[in-house]
Amino acid sequence: MTGFYGHVIDGEETGSLDGRRMPSVDPWTREPWAEVALGGADDAARAVAAARRAFDEGPWPRMGFAERGRLLHRLADLVEEHRAELSLADTRDMGKPVAQSGHDVLRAAANLRFFADHARLSTGQALPMDSGHHAYTRYEPAGVAAAIAPWNFPLMLESWKIAPALAWGNTVVLKPAEDTPVSATLLARLALEAGLPPGVLNVVHGYGPDSAGQALTEDPRVDRVTFTGESATGRAITRAAAANLTPVSLELGGKGANLVFADADLDNAVHWSAEAIFRNAGQVCLAGSRLYVERAVYGEFLDRFVKKAESLRTGDPKDPATELGPLASESHFAKVRSYVENAPGTMLTGGLGDGWSVRPTVLADVDPSARHWREEIFGPVVVVQPFDTEAEAVTAANATRYGLNAMLFTENVNRAHRVSAALRAGTVWLNCFFIRDLRAPFGGVGDSGIGREGGDFSREFFTEPKAVVMQITDA
Ligand code: NAD
Repeated sequence: MTGFYGHVIDGEETGSLDGRRMPSVDPWTREPWAEVALGGADDAARAVAAARRAFDEGPWPRMGFAERGRLLHRLADLVEEHRAELSLADTRDMGKPVAQSGHDVLRAAANLRFFADHARLSTGQALPMDSGHHAYTRYEPAGVAAAIAPWNFPLMLESWKIAPALAWGNTVVLKPAEDTPVSATLLARLALEAGLPPGVLNVVHGYGPDSAGQALTEDPRVDRVTFTGESATGRAITRAAAANLTPVSLELGGKGANLVFADADLDNAVHWSAEAIFRNAGQVCLAGSRLYVERAVYGEFLDRFVKKAESLRTGDPKDPATELGPLASESHFAKVRSYVENAPGTMLTGGLGDGWSVRPTVLADVDPSARHWREEIFGPVVVVQPFDTEAEAVTAANATRYGLNAMLFTENVNRAHRVSAALRAGTVWLNCFFIRDLRAPFGGVGDSGIGREGGDFSREFFTEPKAVVMQITDA
């Protein structure tokens, strides 16, 4: 065990009111490696009270954008300086290889910098009116934002929510996932060191249902709930928030389709298709977990794809050369194991690994009715089938209740744009995967979520736009 990580409330690191603690288990050693405050509804209420006070009475929402931006850039500097410690925290909490968690830390710093600058440089509208009036818009901070995060990209996704909320002058209560609590406390410590005033960024640890998470969504003092996690949780949160008419932004699950056409650059398609399902051991909302390959290249593509899958290095996530670590927790491993042990069709490669690990697994000849085609497995498991026509591929890709993202590989520019338009998804990647521009909308359709975050889309969510109408003549 390497220490205790508390809630951070009103600028103080503290234990829970009832003194409860929980271990954080390292999925590689399968031993506890840290101890964390286990918060309940009363701890969440304390954190909301602090955030409320900091918003209603404190300097943060009243500061200029330049000053807030300076502090957020300072926080980004500290995040970069503490890269090794933050990266190791996520790796030990959830088994992500350090090469990937180190990358996530840089993405977290980039999120802070982007939104600091985006808020400072944003403009409103000026609307001259024929009636002798003039209107203009103001984007005012919404208030207290509750940010509820999942465990698969802990620090990175937390920063994705916190950065725009803070940059626009809101105060925040962050509840990290119970399996990945440590980097959130480290981030809140750094925020205080950077000079963010007490109460501006609070962290409360604990579980979701009937605990700290649910309490945040039910608290009438909360003005926004931004949530990333499972679709079923998104439904529960929407119901809870509806009681107070609190706006929610939901980034939920996915079952991404990946279409490889015969005219694709196959080296490129193999590279990105493997990234899309095996990165972070497939514990990615955006995973390309349904692979459709045009029949003319089906055999050749699969040969290369299976070789690539078998070449990936699995093992200790603390080793910089490791490409796949264990799954994040025992309960999550048990869930993925049930899909692997009961795999229909032909397992071209893969299966269970050591401990809580699953090897890169490729399933062919799977009956279309199998749950492996429909359900988010959230592990390194892909189902693959051939297609004959573009129309057939698009129909198959869209046959899902999710709609977070899709990918397609083709060198035919007309097809590329035609199919991109026909795919029902929040993001379509053409000949690539996972590349993000922070100005672009991010979110999904159907069971993949409500709303979009990113650039102006985050501004719309974390602010209350106001119209000011002024008479400028005597008319
Ligand atoms: P989860 O829904 O189980 O938990 C997410 C968070 O919600 C945790 O902090 C949890 O404590 C909290 N929570 C659970 N029930 C709650 C409730 N009733 N009220 C308030 N809070 C509650 O999700 P997870 O297992 O941590 O994450 C994996 C899921 O997240 C996958 O479905 C994945 O696709 C999704 N995800 C989506 C995106 C995206 O951007 N769309 C990104 C990453 C992960």
